[in-house]
Amino acid sequence: MPGPWRAFGDRILTTDTLFEQTDLPRRIAVIGMGAIGAEIAQALARLGLEVAGSDAVEGLSGIDDPQVLAAFRPLIGADVALHLGAQAELAAAGDAIRVTGADGSFDADVVLAAIGRKPNLDGLMLDTLGVPLDDKGMPDIDPATLRLGDLPVFLAGDANGHRPLLHEAADEGHIAERMAAPDGGGAGLCRRTPLSIAVASPQVARVGPPLSALDHAAIVTGTVDFSKQARAHGAVGRGCPCVSTPIATTGGFWPPNCACPRPNIWRTCWLSRWTSA
Ligand SMILES: Cc1cc2nc3c(=O)[nH]c(=O)nc-3n(C[C@H](O)[C@H](O)[C@H](O)COP(=O)(O)OP(=O)(O)OC[C@H]3O[C@@H](n4cnc5c(N)ncnc54)[C@H](O)[C@@H]3O)c2cc1C
Repeated sequence: MPGPWRAFGDRILTTDTLFEQTDLPRRIAVIGMGAIGAEIAQALARLGLEVAGSDAVEGLSGIDDPQVLAAFRPLIGADVALHLGAQAELAAAGDAIRVTGADGSFDADVVLAAIGRKPNLDGLMLDTLGVPLDDKGMPDIDPATLRLGDLPVFLAGDANGHRPLLHEAADEGHIAERMAAPDGGGAGLCRRTPLSIAVASPQVARVGPPLSALDHAAIVTGTVDFSKQARAHGAVGRGCPCVSTPIATTGGFWPPNCACPRPNIWRTCWLSRWTSA
């Protein structure tokens, strides 16, 4: 959290302290519209709060497919006043905190800093292990074995910062347990295809690597527009231009980015996760 924000004391919440609150303010600004910030902002708006969401970049929920982002933005914008594309500045304004971002400002009772979550390695004394640590105190771990060098130490889940997602943490717990077992070891276990889901409405997901990491000369992109699809309308409860962009590559089939109305579509993506690994 930027140092000057601390002057606002307990009126600056984090994605940990938010869940300790016994009541909610009337107006809240959410700074950081990644997957966690966007889903919390929308949820709070649907609980009846006046919510603004700011981000330094013109992005939402980690979406890197411009078509999916274009479809998703007005949907979340119907609940949350979006200020995307400029660093948010905080200033006192009477009893409120004035949050100035792209396209104006918003007076909030409370600000949620949905930024900068980092692995909690405090107290583990990793500096005593004799392995190099980077400037954030993070050791280098083998992504296949999750092992620190040749030590009998493994870092799994959010602690290693690689894939801070629930299902990935579960997989990593399994990998670390197998590698640490007396009959374990070796080169490590094959990772499943990366999958991330933001539990917004509609849900947003990526299966496989981000679009930006793919070789655009080797892929073709297809789009499915759900805006006139009756079940999508029924599922989301309003006219919803949901988009999915399957991508075919010479190496297989990837459906990497989707804003989808209901879990039945996830069954397709989940299946792809297993078959494309
Ligand atoms: C607001 C929010 C929303 C999220 N939404 C999603 C989502 O929609 N989808 C998704 O996939 N993921 C989501 N995540 C991420 C997901 O919750 C984490 O990736 C997942 O919980 C990581 O599991 P973990 O076991 O690595 O860590 P944790 O669940 O944090 O568990 C770590 C445990 O270790 C204990 N511990 C810590 N230090 C020590 C120590 N020194 N000694 C002993 N015990 C210790 C802690 O008390 C804790 O019980 C969200 C996270 C947040 C905060």
